[in-house]
Amino acid sequence: MPIRHRLPRFFISSCVFCILSCATGASTRTQYFVLDKEVILGRLQEAPRKDTDREVELGKMFRAVGCQPTEQPVKGLRQPNVICILRGTSDSVILVGAHFDHVNEGDGIIDDWSGVSLLPSLYQSLGGTSRAHTLVFVGFGGEEQGMVGSEFYVKRLTPEQRKNIVAMVNLECLGVTPTKVWVSHSEPLLMNILWGVAQSLQLPLSGVNVEKVGTTDSESFAHYKIPRITIHSITQETWPLLHSKGDNIKAIQDNLYYDSYKLIAAYLAVLDQQLATSNPGQPKPEVK
Ligand SMILES: [Zn+2]
Repeated sequence: MPIRHRLPRFFISSCVFCILSCATGASTRTQYFVLDKEVILGRLQEAPRKDTDREVELGKMFRAVGCQPTEQPVKGLRQPNVICILRGTSDSVILVGAHFDHVNEGDGIIDDWSGVSLLPSLYQSLGGTSRAHTLVFVGFGGEEQGMVGSEFYVKRLTPEQRKNIVAMVNLECLGVTPTKVWVSHSEPLLMNILWGVAQSLQLPLSGVNVEKVGTTDSESFAHYKIPRITIHSITQETWPLLHSKGDNIKAIQDNLYYDSYKLIAAYLAVLDQQLATSNPGQPKPEVK
């Protein structure tokens, strides 16, 4: 059920200049914005009931943070993928994905409004400063029908565009427990950087494999050998909440969800600094 309570959208609490000791051990100055907890939770609470409305709401949230999203019609789906691009100084891409569709059982807040409603906030957190990589935020449709939106997206890229994606960061089912990473299905380098950021910020992170529970959009990219990482919060105890009536706003622990947001925002800023780019200083007009 959507909650109509609306919160100011442009409120940024602080501009953070963090000194992070990352995976390399070197101290690096990393710049990103940290949004207020109320903003992050407000966007989570604005989940409409129907997928059609979720797609519209996601587009609205992107526009509210200053991004004009593109809609990519997907063969076999009623809703398009919703894409928002933060251009960097190279055509190397860090892609951040989550899915806006959900099953009929439950409200689909955990799976995966918790992930997809973070995308506009992450756009906002990473914007306002020059980035080496182009950050592409994608709200996928049809994940529950078998990763239809993400498979379509990656399939229609050219081989060169696929090669340009240096990381696919998949956000799936956040806020139920402290942040987890799907170790067996994530690239070691991407995980090492995440561990380093978690340690620096003293935010919780542990590894939980979820292949026995199901699969997710990151695997559409893995199929093309694109480095990927899935960040989630599912454990042995909490996975029965998925696709059940228990998947509702009450299942989210506000502090843990906000911790995940803070970790992911910092992580994307550090990834941008640490991953190599193809052509620094040569922005390209067309990146999808
Ligand atoms: Zn999901």
